[in-house]
Amino acid sequence: MNLKTIRWVIALGIIAIVTIILSQVFWIRKGLLINQSNFETAVTVTLEQIAAKIETSNHGQKITNKPVVRISPHAYMVNIDEIIDLNQLDYYIKNEFSNPFHKVDFVYQVYESTHDQMVFEQRVSSNVENATIVYPTNLPKLTESTYYFKINFPQRPIVNSVMIFVWATSIIALTIVIVFFGYSLDVILRQKRLSEFQNSFINNLAHEFKTPISTIGIAAEVLIEPEIIDEPERLRSYAGIIKNENTRLTGQVSKILELAKLENDELVLNKEKFQLNELVSEIVTSFEVRLAESGGKLIVDSSAIVDTVDAYKVHMQNVINTLLDNALKYNDKTPEITITTGRDDIGLFISIADNGIGIPKEFHRKIFEKFFRVPTGNIHNVKGYGLGLNYVKMIAKAHHWRLRLDSVLNKGSIFTIIIPQ
Ligand code: ADP
Repeated sequence: MNLKTIRWVIALGIIAIVTIILSQVFWIRKGLLINQSNFETAVTVTLEQIAAKIETSNHGQKITNKPVVRISPHAYMVNIDEIIDLNQLDYYIKNEFSNPFHKVDFVYQVYESTHDQMVFEQRVSSNVENATIVYPTNLPKLTESTYYFKINFPQRPIVNSVMIFVWATSIIALTIVIVFFGYSLDVILRQKRLSEFQNSFINNLAHEFKTPISTIGIAAEVLIEPEIIDEPERLRSYAGIIKNENTRLTGQVSKILELAKLENDELVLNKEKFQLNELVSEIVTSFEVRLAESGGKLIVDSSAIVDTVDAYKVHMQNVINTLLDNALKYNDKTPEITITTGRDDIGLFISIADNGIGIPKEFHRKIFEKFFRVPTGNIHNVKGYGLGLNYVKMIAKAHHWRLRLDSVLNKGSIFTIIIPQ
């Protein structure tokens, strides 16, 4: 998938998700509004019935047409101009509003009509059960004047549980869709990066292979000349060149094959016990020759008493060599490399410290990924495939070792392998 297609997929995915979210919000709001309006209608009808009952008990018939007025989003006024028996009103109100639809707390207040003065107030809890409602006898009968009453519902009406279930299900489903979309994007972007790395790896590899192949070709052309028989020195030298180049190519190929094996979990760990310090001194002997060419310095600090390691020796050797190679390669000063072995609370450790170019913090994890190389613009002064540290990581994983990186840009890096024991 090319970058343009990926951008389209991301844009369309985001548009689709935002549209679904907006429509969900719209339907939830609509649902709440319908719920509110159903509640209002039911309250109005109930209050009209109560008003009619009061008027009928006073005059034998219903008098006021549409006595209920909604005076605020939560309050209603029942405009009757009547004497009110509070025992009767309390009973009607509690009785009518005790059905499950009205499961909200409320307050009702009775006002004297002429002076608009509140004469009675009662709070009613939503917990009142139909069975517990009794006709009170202790409340006064207001006969001195005429009265009307108000009722106030401070809370929002309760939303139907089926509705809540439907909303919750759709929100969960939407969350799952968003998570899957994010996950798929992550996979697509990873694949894209991997294929980019693979391309650059193949270019790099082709470039690296081209030099030894053409050197071998040139040497072979010289060797094919019949007169070379008379120059045994030259013949040996060209045969030597071919051998060296062949060794280099074999090394590259086997490194790539080893990595493939490690990835497929096909590596069988032929572990053996050996002294870490002995291995280090073997490696140091050959490494010092290479270091001498660059005028660098190698310090080996293995003064600590170090025990035996149980590991695949060849791989451990390769790992240390890879870290030493990098310490030398990624260095723009006179290299100063320190190898330290020791023991701490967790187990044994070996660290390789350099005074090289260092690694920016944001790449500390990434450099262990396959084909990853710290970006340096388009110029890569130092050749490599971005495979060395991935190999180190794979070997460490197979042995259950831990890796630690401390690095400061332009100051240097310390790679530590911790071998828990
Ligand atoms: P390669 O050296 O073949 O590119 P590696 O996997 O060994 O691959 O290293 C990955 C990247 O990590 C290198 O390209 C380099 O940018 C960075 N790196 C590795 N070791 C060091 C080091 N000691 N100092 C600075 N940068 C390093």
